Amino acid sequence: MSVITEELEEVQKFLCSNVDGIDIISCHKHLVTIKILKTKHRELTACIQFPNNYPDAILLVEIKSKVMSPSLMSHINQICDQELKKFVGQKQVFQLTKFLRRFLDENPLLPCRDELTYVKKELIEDGDSLKMKQKQGVITAEIKQNKYNFKFTVSVPDKYPVERITIQIDHHTFPACMTYYFISQAREFARQAVEPPLRKDKKKSEFSPSPHIKKVMEFLIKGCAKRYPLETCPLCDDLTLPEDPKEIINNAKDAKYAERIYCGHLYHHGCLDKYMKTPPFQEGKKCPKCSHRIYHDKWNINPKLAEDRWAHQEARQRELDEVMDFLS
Ligand SMILES: [Zn+2]
Ligand SMILES: [Zn+2]
Repeated sequence: MSVITEELEEVQKFLCSNVDGIDIISCHKHLVTIKILKTKHRELTACIQFPNNYPDAILLVEIKSKVMSPSLMSHINQICDQELKKFVGQKQVFQLTKFLRRFLDENPLLPCRDELTYVKKELIEDGDSLKMKQKQGVITAEIKQNKYNFKFTVSVPDKYPVERITIQIDHHTFPACMTYYFISQAREFARQAVEPPLRKDKKKSEFSPSPHIKKVMEFLIKGCAKRYPLETCPLCDDLTLPEDPKEIINNAKDAKYAERIYCGHLYHHGCLDKYMKTPPFQEGKKCPKCSHRIYHDKWNINPKLAEDRWAHQEARQRELDEVMDFLS
């Protein structure tokens, strides 16, 4: 019996009981096809052919996957070839299957490899750092902008993207209320990616969970950590946050306190207060940078009331001025 025939028999008899989560799709001397499944988003199929001088040459392997990207597949193909070189002269199908199984088990970041490639290439700059612990499925990014610093960790669950990532801030130099917003918004993006909306949109097709690492990390890096240290107040054009985070003002009534409003722009409390209390009021107050209407709990009054208050204050000021004239 030839080596190949013997090996094919072994594959049929023993492979399924030897390696978890596999499915033999075909098994004959021209083609062996084995599907290996860890989760729905971590699965691949190995198409194997025996070269003429087998087992003195390595198996001809082609890796396919419905869920993982072609570039990742060609990467896996390369490391399979490397691995098989260790077994030249021996039977290789078992070794290959076990290797691929281990590879799927030990790489929870596989389903987000393309997203992470984007993050690394497009979002991480000199001075920042991005560390990945493949086996634990953990990504840590440390982002710097001027003297500001923002470090966070993303943990990728086994069932990503069906299950959402968890996000945690490790260290930061931003005002506490701003980081609270950063993290809440990031978690909300992750939630929306895996949970169907409460109100169904009939026009949209059936909901299915979607990858969300790119969106979350883009928001935290580009939309927060890189953005706000450079953000200027739309009303006075000075930097809204102090250049040195050590000088951050936490008193919400201080004129230089940084106030983030709904559109995302960052104002000095004093500048915004003055703007909100000065006419015209009728059209509602708009953000000079983006023209969005400004809604804020602190200035949540109707135009009529704002007008009355302003008139009252003006009248009071006139009285005061008259008193001052009288005294001087
Ligand atoms: Zn200002
Ligand atoms: Zn705005």
